[in-house]
Amino acid sequence: MSLRFQAPKGTRDLLPPDTAIWAAVEAAARRVFARYGYGEIRTPIFEETELFARGVGESSDIVGKEMYSFTDRGGRSVTLRPENTASVCRAYLEHGMQSLPKPVRLFYVGPQFRYERPQKGRYRQFHQVGAELIGGKGAESDVEILLMLVAFLGELGFGDLKVLVNTVGDAESRSAYKEKLKTYLLPLKERLSEDSRRRLETNPLRILDSKSPEEQEIVAAAPRLADFLTDASRRHFAAVLSSMEAFGLSFVVEPRLVRGLDYYTNTVFEIVSEGLGAQNAICGGGAYEGLIEELGGAPTYGVGFAIGEDRLLEVLPAHSPARAAAQAIRPVLVAWAGGQLPEDASPSSPTFDLAEELRRQGIAAVDAGGRTGKALYAYADQLASPCLAFVGEEELAAGTVRLRDTATREEQTLERQAAIARLRPAPTEPR
Ligand code: ATP
Ligand code: MG
Repeated sequence: MSLRFQAPKGTRDLLPPDTAIWAAVEAAARRVFARYGYGEIRTPIFEETELFARGVGESSDIVGKEMYSFTDRGGRSVTLRPENTASVCRAYLEHGMQSLPKPVRLFYVGPQFRYERPQKGRYRQFHQVGAELIGGKGAESDVEILLMLVAFLGELGFGDLKVLVNTVGDAESRSAYKEKLKTYLLPLKERLSEDSRRRLETNPLRILDSKSPEEQEIVAAAPRLADFLTDASRRHFAAVLSSMEAFGLSFVVEPRLVRGLDYYTNTVFEIVSEGLGAQNAICGGGAYEGLIEELGGAPTYGVGFAIGEDRLLEVLPAHSPARAAAQAIRPVLVAWAGGQLPEDASPSSPTFDLAEELRRQGIAAVDAGGRTGKALYAYADQLASPCLAFVGEEELAAGTVRLRDTATREEQTLERQAAIARLRPAPTEPR
């Protein structure tokens, strides 16, 4: 049977029990970011198209070919946000945050939209968890953001992720380098892809991170950006690297890493995971010194990252505390142990009663109704219940509950209040 309606191409429904893991990952983000003093910002899902054209940059893939733009009924061109940094900077200016004591620390969690070819790890509606540190001091800001990023990933149980870092220099470094790179690439133009030929004019730096083997060969022999850095950019990068070392962050300098958004300056970084195949970037970020100014503010140092939550979840370690946290909220299944429940028992049956009593005590619980035997255990499976709580005539008379651990199948009969105490979740881990 073919369904009449399906989720639009490139989008998907997130369903339980997976959504509990998503929520646990987001809870970990909120916990870690709060520890660093970041507050949550929620910007609109759509913005004036011009904001992204300006902020993200006309020569980026995002603005060039990935935006969901449409004209609304009032004749305005609006765009579903393809990323959140431009919106955060717009809000920073709109709410006069430039006059707050600096720096301003913000994080966000939410969906982003890009019109891309859907494939594993690439969706048209995807989700990002990100942070921005605005109005701080250069290298120190970069390092704070990187420390927080790695702390978050550590909290999720990732131990082996490598941070790739590079510097794309300040505006001065880049304009000197761009010229050299163009001079080098022009005679090789015939061997470049159509995309790269276009970039030769708009943003030659982007050719550096081409994925095509032929272009990589050309790029390997190109002049190096590192040789064109101004003293200030060189010092900035050296300070970031030595500080990362001092804090024990493991990283690899990747000279060809340039990132796709036009606003980056100096430090850029990415985190990739082997388990993801072609779409292997979990996180991208970097500093942006010109963006706030581009949007009409005073020159302001900004740095941030965006983690692709869909990809992050794809490679979340089996031992991740986020999985355990999701598991911890699975309901106890309350079942009738006295044979068939009378037809008209609900909603005041003994199992319905006990389930509600448990919930009032802060314990997740579901009434199994009249289910017994196979049907009961299938239901426990579906709910991933850690435990069954049985009441029957005997238990009611004795004021007891029989608990059965679904994993070990061990049973024990406890006095009702003792059983409730036993089921109460362990207090959440201290911050
Ligand atoms: P890619 O090179 O994979 O296209 P990107 O450089 O376009 O990534 P960013 O703009 O840096 O991505 O966004 C940060 C993160 O958001 C990426 O590292 C990735 O994990 C995630 N991401 C970006 N686009 C998508 C998408 N279409 N579907 C799922 N996740 C995405
Ligand atoms: Mg992309």
